Amino acid sequence: MQVIYLDNNATTRTDPDVLADMLPYMTDLYGNPSSMHTFGGQVHRKIEKAREQVAALINAEPSEIIFTSCGTESDNTAIMSAVEATPRKTHIITTRVEHPAVLNFCHHMGRKARRVTYLSVNNAGQLNIDELIRSLDDDTAVVSIMYANNETGVIFPVEEIAERLDDRGIMFHTDAVQAVGKVPVDVKRLKVTMLSLSGHKIHAPKGIGALYVRKGTRFSPYIIGGHQENSRRAGTENVASIIGLGKAAEIARKGLDEEIRHVSRLRDRLEQALLKTCPDARVNGDTANRLPNTANISFEYIEGEAILLRLNEFNICASSGSACTSGSLEPSHVLRAMGVPYTAVHGSIRFSLSRYTTDEEIDKVIHIMPVIVKELRQLSPFGREKLSCQR
Ligand code: PLP
Repeated sequence: MQVIYLDNNATTRTDPDVLADMLPYMTDLYGNPSSMHTFGGQVHRKIEKAREQVAALINAEPSEIIFTSCGTESDNTAIMSAVEATPRKTHIITTRVEHPAVLNFCHHMGRKARRVTYLSVNNAGQLNIDELIRSLDDDTAVVSIMYANNETGVIFPVEEIAERLDDRGIMFHTDAVQAVGKVPVDVKRLKVTMLSLSGHKIHAPKGIGALYVRKGTRFSPYIIGGHQENSRRAGTENVASIIGLGKAAEIARKGLDEEIRHVSRLRDRLEQALLKTCPDARVNGDTANRLPNTANISFEYIEGEAILLRLNEFNICASSGSACTSGSLEPSHVLRAMGVPYTAVHGSIRFSLSRYTTDEEIDKVIHIMPVIVKELRQLSPFGREKLSCQR
């Protein structure tokens, strides 16, 4: 049976054209891009082409792009660099709904004598910019706020935040891992200091990312060694994956408008159908301002994990808002920060689509979900109570 893959915020399928561009650099063209000889030089030139392709996707200059091993490394590097570049300042501001790549790094920095402010969000997952402005002080080194949330797809007003921070000498990093390639991202308009992106969210392979660092920014490398990446990130380059990221960026840039139309139409069709056919279902997050490919829906009174297991039997891949840690169900920190009721947090499912998602796949999910929800509600004590009330 064919897999119906609606978990594209977790990772995406590598585009065949991306793989085709990469393969020669894993076989015949294996030279080291730092070598003096022509054999290595041709690899170096291809890496520089990839840098141009990635820069073009976010309207940056190629020299402002540093290749990293993943989105997590880009996030860690940005925050660490900002802190190291401003040694007299100890304050970091972030939000309660960041990905662990930022959140856990900030917890770590909090244990290293840094002061961290975690901004709250409202029921729709939106940030209160006044709270951010009130949190700023002369000791603030960096503000790190995600562009789009990986669980709900809610988009933060990064451009407005940058404007409010302008001229205060505070570095502004945005984790745009979920936004790049899904919505237009233009660093010249956004005026952020640093921006993270990741290859495997945009149909490039896993294990490759990039960090945009605005020209003129004081930068302190996180990985120290050789002079690769203009002495900003040491280590022999992951050549094939860099080339893959470049190609994926080019494909994403050229197809962005069409992809937005495609995934948002399918996402809306799925969402509207499920809200109609599944009682006590609700969408989590600001529906007016979110990624076009993401729907986070709570099916109250049942466990998200139970839904996922049943979907899995039909080869349908999605993800839940809870992570199963050490035998206990840990509800999503994002939905909890939004104040989503307990019964809804536990029954939340994230569907995330891609350019490969088809109408037929969405039809199958629309058909099967109400059956699964009804069946699980009959098994759950809360659900049975609700069903008997509805009769
Ligand atoms: N930031 C966000 C918002 C993400 O969704 C992810 C991955 O899910 C990351 C960072 C980490 O990226 P990577 O998996 O490339 O380390």
